Amino acid sequence: MDFTVPPDLADLLARIRSYIEEEVFPAELQITDRTNILTSWDVVEGLRDKARERGIYLPHMPEEYGGLGVGVFGMSLVSQECGVSGLASLGLNAMAPDEGNMHTLLIAGDEEQKERWLRPLAEGSIRSCFAMTEPDVASSDPTNLETTAVRDGDEWVLNGRKWCITGAIGAAFAIVVAKTGSDEAAGHRNYSLIIVPTDTPGWEIEHNPEWMGSHSPGGHPYITLTDVRVPAANLLGAEGEGFVIAQKRLAGGRLAHAMRWIGVSQRALDLTTQRLLERKSFGKELARHQGLQFMIADSAMDLYASKLMVLHAAWKVEHGLPHRQEIAMVKTFVSEAFGRIVDRAVQIHGAAGIAMELPISTWYQDARAARIYDGASEVHRMTIARELLKLAMTGESTKQATGDLL
Ligand SMILES: Cc1cc2nc3c(=O)[nH]c(=O)nc-3n(C[C@H](O)[C@H](O)[C@H](O)COP(=O)(O)OP(=O)(O)OC[C@H]3O[C@@H](n4cnc5c(N)ncnc54)[C@H](O)[C@@H]3O)c2cc1C
Repeated sequence: MDFTVPPDLADLLARIRSYIEEEVFPAELQITDRTNILTSWDVVEGLRDKARERGIYLPHMPEEYGGLGVGVFGMSLVSQECGVSGLASLGLNAMAPDEGNMHTLLIAGDEEQKERWLRPLAEGSIRSCFAMTEPDVASSDPTNLETTAVRDGDEWVLNGRKWCITGAIGAAFAIVVAKTGSDEAAGHRNYSLIIVPTDTPGWEIEHNPEWMGSHSPGGHPYITLTDVRVPAANLLGAEGEGFVIAQKRLAGGRLAHAMRWIGVSQRALDLTTQRLLERKSFGKELARHQGLQFMIADSAMDLYASKLMVLHAAWKVEHGLPHRQEIAMVKTFVSEAFGRIVDRAVQIHGAAGIAMELPISTWYQDARAARIYDGASEVHRMTIARELLKLAMTGESTKQATGDLL
């Protein structure tokens, strides 16, 4: 087992690190409204130009779309570097939801769809969103989704309501999850992905509620779709394959999120250990209180376990090995470890951990959301347990469903 990072990847990571220090951190100070980054979009454009100049733009896409062709394993390490600042992934054009939509178009799109939507997305001239969740039903269970797409001649006609749609304000198109079949027994195979240009009549942004934590460009608004007509050719992949494609998209996306959380957690631990050395209570440095030493030791163990889990899962994805169980474990464990690490960081910083002047309070809010989006912890635990029990029912060891290591 060799944990050495290959030289070309190590070189890319070093260049991304310099970019973050020299371009991204100074750019953070130019953001005029942290709740609406679209008002400072020129800052993001500037960062993208710098990323292109440094040859680090679009690491996750193949060269034919102007990318670097870094695989899932490499992207995990890139995402870890980018975790230290939300602007870093935006600067590389490797941020959800555009990153996931690029992958979806790459694996499921036909040539025309790729030229029309993937190419400008990769170039950074448009943005996009992914519209699955609905306000009126528990969307953890995808078979609850009510938005329909009905075939009428050469068109699909969509009706329904979505919400929580990251990036929808200002997006050029949405990949919408819609019910195209009505066979109860088919379950999630009744759902398909349909590309909807957002200037289509009937697509309407209702409103964008306020959300705690960091803010992505384009908010997470409510959307109504009223008799939205798009060409039949806008079906992405085969009819009924919506969730099969979405699962493929989510594997890389969940690993990238997990590695970004690890990047943030590392920064939180660095600030925390520094703070322990700087302040004194009851006649000695905070660092000398054993109770606080235990807290940073627990954070170090959380980080180590998180990194190993992500790297192993990424390795499995890259080698085409089964990885559904590992991705569910990574999503759950790392989002919860992120929460524990920033919680300890808040506690050790005292009042400064709550003040919005420092980034720790925002990370604390981000960590809370991480346990919900891309599948709530409980739903992933349900998937994990199901695999364990399936093996038990056949009398087999559960080893296969615990990472299937050595
Ligand atoms: C910041 C953010 C960004 C998002 N971006 C997008 C986006 O771009 N596009 C999009 O489509 N969606 C997006 N979402 C929505 C997200 O994917 C959903 O919130 C998530 O899938 C859960 O669905 P729900 O909110 O309807 O919760 P529900 O399905 O109502 O579930 C509520 C809670 O019930 C519990 N629960 C549910 N099922 C079970 C079970 N079987 N066993 C035990 N407990 C259970 C869980 O604790 C869950 O949190 C985003 C959410 C957030 C917070």
